[in-house]
Amino acid sequence: MSELCGIDVTKKKKISLATLLTGLVSLSVALTLTILLLASYHSNKQSLFETRFALNHSAAAKMSQSIDSLFKSMRAGLKYTGAYISVNHLSNEQELQKQLEMLRLSGNFFNSIAVVDETGLVRSVAPSSVGTVGQHITAEAAKEALASRKPYMSKPYTSSTGRRIVFMSEPLYDKDGVYRGFIGGSLYLQENNILNTMFGKHNIDGDGSYFYIVSSSGHLLYHPDKSRIGADNSTNPVVQKALRGESGYGQVTNSRGITFLAGYSPVPENGWGVIVQSPISVVYEELDSYIRTILVYTLVPFVVLMITAIWLARRLARPFVSLANLASKLGKGEKIVLPDIKHHWNREADLLTQTITLALSDLQKQTDQLTHAAMTDSLTGLTNRRTFESIMSQWTEKQQPFALIMMDIDRFKSINDTYGHQAGDEVLKHLARILTSAVRSNDVCCRYGGEEFVMLLPFTTVPDAWITAERVRIAFETRENPLGVPLAVSLGIAHYPSHAESAEMLFQLADHALYQAKEAGKNRTIIADEKTERYHGSNRG
Ligand code: GH3
Ligand code: MG
Ligand code: MG
Repeated sequence: MSELCGIDVTKKKKISLATLLTGLVSLSVALTLTILLLASYHSNKQSLFETRFALNHSAAAKMSQSIDSLFKSMRAGLKYTGAYISVNHLSNEQELQKQLEMLRLSGNFFNSIAVVDETGLVRSVAPSSVGTVGQHITAEAAKEALASRKPYMSKPYTSSTGRRIVFMSEPLYDKDGVYRGFIGGSLYLQENNILNTMFGKHNIDGDGSYFYIVSSSGHLLYHPDKSRIGADNSTNPVVQKALRGESGYGQVTNSRGITFLAGYSPVPENGWGVIVQSPISVVYEELDSYIRTILVYTLVPFVVLMITAIWLARRLARPFVSLANLASKLGKGEKIVLPDIKHHWNREADLLTQTITLALSDLQKQTDQLTHAAMTDSLTGLTNRRTFESIMSQWTEKQQPFALIMMDIDRFKSINDTYGHQAGDEVLKHLARILTSAVRSNDVCCRYGGEEFVMLLPFTTVPDAWITAERVRIAFETRENPLGVPLAVSLGIAHYPSHAESAEMLFQLADHALYQAKEAGKNRTIIADEKTERYHGSNRG
């Protein structure tokens, strides 16, 4: 568990800033799109409903108007012919037949026309193929018409020949005002008739919209499904409204459970009703295709917007992310490589980056300084004893061969005593410079303490270490020094691992060799374990 200033930073998986911003942006874009779609769905649903209602209502109103004038013409035709024949031609079979044929063919209003006298006897029929001349009327509607002695309009009924029929009639009065029967016209509802001719046989639109006509009793007079003609539809609420003389629109569900948007209108002349209706699914299909279109048109810009926003979010988060990574390295004590200070377009990111980078670089400098101070000797700038010991133990751990040279300035006490402590320090620095100049870059020179120095020479054989030691010794003896007095140093050499297997042992051996060099008269180099002097330098002491 890594802790930073006592705060546990690994316990819970944290959301990164980039993910957070990206998520936020995606969420808001998705929400906006949803709201947009929902809003347009609802507003369009309403307007599509209203439009559909208005269309169906106006269609119903127009049709009822047409039927109204049609029936006015039909009745006028019957009335005119009736008036003409009742005055002059009631007894003239041929003339009657001629007049009826003329009426039938001129308006093409009726499928058949008949003249019935006051006794109920059929006097004349057009077309003659109907063949009821000379018979008495049997249909209830015809009897009712005869009895009423008034303009008459029947409900749809089934005739003796099995036809669905509606029938209208005008009474006949002769010139003395005596009732002489009626002239009646029939519409064969399930065959070609004037309604078919006017409104078309197939009134179902491609989208499933259609219309139907009901009689004043609510029975179907006209319907795209011929089998339904004559059926009672009086319980249908829009039919009821139309038959009450109301004109308008409304939603209605039919016997098969299909919901329609219906417009309705009454026909004043005959009390019929016209209903134009569309299945509600039509509107929903229109709505679906509308929403699909909106989606297609908005998706591309929204995706572009989303990508741009995510890209921006990531760009915005980037400086914070790199600062956070930097800070987390700091927490783990890793070595930080400070990035070049980059200017950022976001003010906060820019300020924070500048400030933190500067603070971190200051911190790094201080740390470096402290580290350097902890590792070096302040007087000579050489490695200090602690570092020397750690390096030596590292090398022996790795079993890396090296040579150790220990040295001690001869009669240093007297230098101090004679020239003062400061002068002594100058001599120490002088030897340090000689050491530094005498070694390779991998060698370690160290002030062990006082006027004692050590050198660690990696991968160096005893003879080579000897050469280095002698170079130092001779340079110290011969090179010009700050005091201008003769100086000398004694040295002891030990080699790892040929002389000793442990750092302590090696150190003791080198120390002992140094001691031997002092004993033997100073200003010389002695190799450990070797009792004989390899070299006996000129001993001026
Ligand atoms: P030998 O030839 O046997 O080494 O004799 P020596 O005088 O060098 O022996 P000793 O070890 O007794 O003397 C060391 C002296 O070094 C004692 C001390 O005053 C002096 N010394 C230790 N540290 C420093 C230092 O940092 N600066 C100076 N100027 N003198 C120091
Ligand atoms: Mg000493
Ligand atoms: Mg000494």
